[in-house]
Amino acid sequence: MTIPVSRFLARRAIPRACALRSRVAFGVSRPMSTAADQAVFNWEDPLAAKAFLTEEEIAVAETAEKYCQELLLPRVLQAYRDENYDPKILEEMGDLGLLGATIQGYGCAGVSTVASGLITKAVERVDSGYRSGMSVQSSLVMGGIYEMGTEEQKEKYLPEMAKGKLIGAFGLTEPNHGSDPGSMETVAKPHPTKTGYYSLSGSKTWITNSPIADVLLVWAKLQETGKIRGFLIDRKDCPPGTLETPAIKNKNGLRASITGMIHMDGCPVPAANMFPNIEGLRGPFSCLNSARYGIALGVTGALEDCIARARQYALERKQFKGNPLAKYQLIQKKLADAATDAAYGTVAAIQVGRLKDQGLATPEMISMVKRQNCDRALHNARVLQEIFGGNAVSDEYMIGRHVANLYVTQTYEGQSDIHALILGRAITGVQAFV
Ligand SMILES: Cc1cc2nc3c(=O)[nH]c(=O)nc-3n(C[C@H](O)[C@H](O)[C@H](O)COP(=O)(O)OP(=O)(O)OC[C@H]3O[C@@H](n4cnc5c(N)ncnc54)[C@H](O)[C@@H]3O)c2cc1C
Repeated sequence: MTIPVSRFLARRAIPRACALRSRVAFGVSRPMSTAADQAVFNWEDPLAAKAFLTEEEIAVAETAEKYCQELLLPRVLQAYRDENYDPKILEEMGDLGLLGATIQGYGCAGVSTVASGLITKAVERVDSGYRSGMSVQSSLVMGGIYEMGTEEQKEKYLPEMAKGKLIGAFGLTEPNHGSDPGSMETVAKPHPTKTGYYSLSGSKTWITNSPIADVLLVWAKLQETGKIRGFLIDRKDCPPGTLETPAIKNKNGLRASITGMIHMDGCPVPAANMFPNIEGLRGPFSCLNSARYGIALGVTGALEDCIARARQYALERKQFKGNPLAKYQLIQKKLADAATDAAYGTVAAIQVGRLKDQGLATPEMISMVKRQNCDRALHNARVLQEIFGGNAVSDEYMIGRHVANLYVTQTYEGQSDIHALILGRAITGVQAFV
């Protein structure tokens, strides 16, 4: 399929290095109306969250929404049926400046955290799998290199990753250690024959993008210290038999993204490819913070798509005396609950994004919005699915796909109960993990 990305580029690609951070937030650049008769309730933006955005953020969101609705939406159904991910999607996103969008320099757009969340929201309105592939590239791998890499690593990887020409994967989860990555078994030790190299051995599982990744950010325990370190593995430099990345097939969620394992057997990695100054779980968790933020706004996009589709269906479907389903109170309550959660979730995520750019967001705040927005998106999507009756079972009504995807968003990057434990520890001062 040929995608005329240039159409979008010509019209409105995200300006590289646009100075969003210096803009005053929360809509003060827009005059506030005081006339009550000008107040309008918009069911698509019930709390007028758009008023909190800068003009540049609105422009970024519009660019992303246009691309997603015109070029991603038409192919998602078949991709989901075939369990197929087209890596060209990352190049298309790269052409529009959507990858690593918060990064300053290295060919990245340098937009605000909120703007990057609006990108994830636009993509996830189509499919959480497309958003996952993008988030891994942008937040987990590019973000990790930008925050923790050497200057040489940044120059080597970031510009090509920003174009989507190099694809990244982030390997933290292992077959025996998911919620508890601190117990990981993957080990890095000095290579027995290659001076200046480490040898990595172990397995990672449920890794987004791993079968198609060119560069794999893998977390392993350094044998000498027992501390977790980050390593950038270049697939092209791995001798045969030292790195395998088989796909995990027959998923019942996130089928439009590609997921796999990473098997390393004495995989040689230059010492220069290790992140220099970060050890322990602080490394992976700082990448996860940004990615979790993207999920928090992203899932509100999936939920808003469910609301719009359920509303339309309820207006058109007639039962009992020719009444549309929308006339019935139980149907209205489902829509009211979902719209309320989507609106609250959006406003809360914008607030955390603003704090993040000021250096004032804590991991607990991000846990709170990630957990709440994922839980509410999954719950409401499941309830809205009922409005479609038997038709919900057909994939052409789109809602079942969101429900299956949203289960995954609630599970990965910290399952919701794990985020509850993070919050519970902060509230009580007592940790309940073990
Ligand atoms: C499609 C997909 C893509 C993914 N992509 C990536 C990726 O790119 N990179 C990556 O590293 N990982 C990825 N993951 C892995 C994901 O992050 C893990 O699945 C997640 O962290 C949960 O780990 P687990 O599956 O091992 O579950 P477990 O850790 O076994 O947890 C199972 C259940 O037990 C609960 N539980 C665990 N410990 C406790 C406790 N102390 N108290 C109470 N409840 C507890 C959990 O909340 C959960 O409900 C992906 C997963 C999926 C499904």
